[in-house]
Amino acid sequence: MSAETRRGADEALAIAFIGLGNMGGPMAANLVKAGHRVTGFDLVPEALATAAEAGVGPAASATAAAADADVVITMLPAGRHVLALYEDGGLLAAARPGTLFLDCSTIDVADARAAHEAAVRAGHQCLDAPVSGGVVGAEAATLTFMAGGGVAEFARAEPLLAAMGKKAVHCGAAGAGQAAKICNNMILGISMIGVSEAFVLGESLGLSHQALYDVASTASGQCWALSVNCPVPGPVPGSPANHDYRPGFAAPLMAKDLGLAANAVRAGRVQAELGLRAAELYATYAEHEGAAEDFSGIVRTIRQRSGGAPQAQHTEQNGTPA
Ligand code: NAD
Repeated sequence: MSAETRRGADEALAIAFIGLGNMGGPMAANLVKAGHRVTGFDLVPEALATAAEAGVGPAASATAAAADADVVITMLPAGRHVLALYEDGGLLAAARPGTLFLDCSTIDVADARAAHEAAVRAGHQCLDAPVSGGVVGAEAATLTFMAGGGVAEFARAEPLLAAMGKKAVHCGAAGAGQAAKICNNMILGISMIGVSEAFVLGESLGLSHQALYDVASTASGQCWALSVNCPVPGPVPGSPANHDYRPGFAAPLMAKDLGLAANAVRAGRVQAELGLRAAELYATYAEHEGAAEDFSGIVRTIRQRSGGAPQAQHTEQNGTPA
């Protein structure tokens, strides 16, 4: 760790935090706990009030929060919000030259690169640092950050990332953090569909969930979607399938991330047929029955489209209602 990074870790910084929703609220609270002076803004007054209870100083606007900041963190729904705020919203212009802009939202790789260029043009530093770990990780400060930008920018951000998470990986230049996030989630979306299809096929062949799990979880079918977030109830007690598919990782967020991956697949003319199909399946599922479910609930849609009947056979066999 460089001397500069070590000094940074001990310094209390002035941080502007814009977007205090499900993720941003607890992340800002953890920065307060780490001793930083955090000023926040959100369009929703309730979100601002909740953050204020955790010690975040409420600002009247995003630009007011940024005016006095060493670091401006954004945690917003999509790329258009980040770009609109940076340029039209005056956030870049409001900050002192040399401010570090840290965008932790999950956004399009092209938008992340555009945001980075705009920040640098305005005389600032910039890092994209999307997260995995969900609301639970945001609250417990156990997020994983995937960062894109310069080495110096990453070193400057590290103490803050350490206050909000358990791991930060520098993935490369501007946009590389977002690239890593969508590639990882494309693997996850495809593998969850694959595991779910295998369970439904197993049902139709008279195979119990437990038997398939016992084989695949110790064989070459092993993956996170099977062994941690198993989409059928029974084999993994902590998985959302045992809790009526309450998220967990909500299906609309998976649909969003796969949509971003699909954009990048098309832009790069990559032959990612399964990635594109997974994006379609999750978009439909998230718009309908999956709107408030964990993404593993897609197994029920696959079963239903398969006729649903093998489920009764399965229930009889291993006594576990699915
Ligand atoms: P959220 O909708 O709860 O929070 C976003 C907040 O941004 C809202 O409170 C909204 O009012 C605010 N906002 C929007 N435009 C604004 C503006 N111009 N100025 C100030 N505030 C503004 O969403 P979230 O779940 O906190 O997710 C935030 C980001 O993190 C998203 O990009 C999401 O994809 C990503 N993410 C979420 C999760 C998760 O489990 N929720 C996990 C990983 C990544």
